[in-house]
Amino acid sequence: MNYIIAVPVIPSLPIIGSDQRFPIRRVFCIGRNYAEHAREMGASVDTAAPMFFCKPADAVVGDGADVPYPQATGDLHHEVEMVVALGAGGRDLTPEQGAALVWGYGVGLDLTRRDLQAQAKAKAHPWDVAKGFDHSAPVSALRQATGMALDAGTALRLHVNGELRQQTTLGEMVHDVPHIIAALSRLFELKAGDLIFTGTPAGVAALQRGDRFHAELTGVAELDGRIV
Ligand code: MN
Repeated sequence: MNYIIAVPVIPSLPIIGSDQRFPIRRVFCIGRNYAEHAREMGASVDTAAPMFFCKPADAVVGDGADVPYPQATGDLHHEVEMVVALGAGGRDLTPEQGAALVWGYGVGLDLTRRDLQAQAKAKAHPWDVAKGFDHSAPVSALRQATGMALDAGTALRLHVNGELRQQTTLGEMVHDVPHIIAALSRLFELKAGDLIFTGTPAGVAALQRGDRFHAELTGVAELDGRIV
C-alpha cells in the first residue's frame, strides 16, 4: 500500500515468558464496577446495565514507563484495574461465549483527569477528554490465561511511593469478566487484540509529578512507573 504519510505504529504489550508481543486493537473500560468506588464518587451501581467508555489504543504505555503529567488538569487520579486481553472476537455473546474470548490478563491504571471528568458530568458531556488523553493507560506485560487460576480471592493492589492506596479482590466486582464481555459484545463487535479495563476499587486519589506507582494483580502481573 502506498500511504501519503507514515503508517502509525500498532500499539502492543509484551507477554510474560515470551518474546512475542500482544497487538492492541481497541481499549474498552467499564465504569462503576466496584460498589465502594461508585459510592466514593457519589454514584450508584447499575447492576442491570454496565457503563462503558473507551480509550485510544495508543494511550497504552508499558511497564517501567515515565508517564508525563498530562496537560489541562490539576487533578490527575489513579484507578488500578485488572486488564483483560481478548484473543478472539464476536458479538451478541452469552457470558459463557464471552469467557472463551479471554487470551490473558494484566494490571493497569485508568488514569483520569478528575477535574475534567467532574466538569463533563456537570454538563452531561462525554468523558473522552477526562479519560482518553495521551499516556492515560499504563498496562503491565500480559500473562496468558492458559491453565491460570484467577478466582474471587485474587488481589488487586496499588502502592504509590510505597503507601497502599487501593486494595480489593476480584470477587468484589459487580460484573464479572464473562458478563462484562457479553455486555460489551451487545454494543460493539469485539475482536482479537481488544483490551478491557474492568473497573477500579475504592481509594482513587491524586498523583503528583515524581510519584512512583506499583500495581499488582497477585500472581499474575505487576506494573511499575513514575509520573514525570
Ligand atoms: Mn476506571
